[in-house]
Amino acid sequence: MVHNFSAGPAILPAEVLHQASAACLSFNNTGLSLLEISHRGKDVIAVFDEAVALTKKLLNLGDDYAVVFLQGGASTQFAMVPHNFLHQKAAYLNTGVWASRAIKEAKHYGETVVVASSEDRNFSYIPKGFNIPEDADYFHYTSNNTIYGTQIRTVPQSPVPLICDMSSDIFSYTFDASKFDLIYAGAQKNMGPAGATMVILKKSALQRIQRKMPTMLNYAIHVEGESMYNTPPVFAVYVSMLTLRWLDAMGGVAVMEARNEEKSNLFYTELDRNSQFKGTVEVEDRSRMNANFIMNDPSKEALFNAMLKEAGISGLAGHRSVGGYRASMYNALPLSSVQALVEVMQAFEKNHG
Ligand SMILES: *Cc1c(COP(=O)(O)O)cnc(C)c1O
Repeated sequence: MVHNFSAGPAILPAEVLHQASAACLSFNNTGLSLLEISHRGKDVIAVFDEAVALTKKLLNLGDDYAVVFLQGGASTQFAMVPHNFLHQKAAYLNTGVWASRAIKEAKHYGETVVVASSEDRNFSYIPKGFNIPEDADYFHYTSNNTIYGTQIRTVPQSPVPLICDMSSDIFSYTFDASKFDLIYAGAQKNMGPAGATMVILKKSALQRIQRKMPTMLNYAIHVEGESMYNTPPVFAVYVSMLTLRWLDAMGGVAVMEARNEEKSNLFYTELDRNSQFKGTVEVEDRSRMNANFIMNDPSKEALFNAMLKEAGISGLAGHRSVGGYRASMYNALPLSSVQALVEVMQAFEKNHG
């Protein structure tokens, strides 16, 4: 048994992987692989319709919202968002590398106000008490900072339309999705494999698109084409849909939230108790999805790494830009994997502390 703590692409439910591999050989008992049939066939259209319906059900969204699956990753959304919606000025919160990359793209299109930044302390906290200009076209933030392990679970008050990069925590806690004009998420962290990016849009926002632009960058075209203006990433959407089905059968987002709270509490309680490790971010801003930590004595890393390997714990290395360790505890990670990690931390303290 391998415990998969990878930050992304990341763990998927075992039953989803079984269903996905079966569909590679024969999709819906057709004798044809999902990988070798037209995306215009009714069975594939049904997959997309179900993915959209599940997304709306799980997030409590009505017909005033559209859901599309695009390519180019969350990184293409960094540019598509301002391309479609930044006319004069936009406001951004800078909480890490992904937020900074979104800001960099926005600057190509107009005035980009960074309302607050935590760069001064290596993004180890979430800035609070910032002001969002009332004349901004929108306010953009990153709900979960995958690389640093900080998270914003309370939707900020905003006088202007809200746009959020939820790549690494969508469907992990309940929130009022109807407060947003646009939410985007690369599938490969908490929803599916790499290759599809979910974009949830308030339909009324489409009326604000003005700029002339390449067709593929226009949200309105993708909404009108129901994700099939061009050939979509069928397999990635299929696996995402299976994961949403799994999530729904588990009881939905509120059940996931309770599970995620339990897992992260178990981990952080041990982190705070254990004399050999320490967290790297402000306690109140800790993410439930990605927990960053370091060893008090880094010369013992090789010993700890060997124990992790022995216990079948995989994917715990920190992002290459920050080092240390990062335990990613996405929806699909079972509590038993966190228990296994906690046991290794305890054994390490006992044997090498
Ligand atoms: C991984 C990640 C991205 C980048 O996603 P790509 O699909 O690789 O472009 C953007 N934002 C967040 C929050 C992420 O975790």
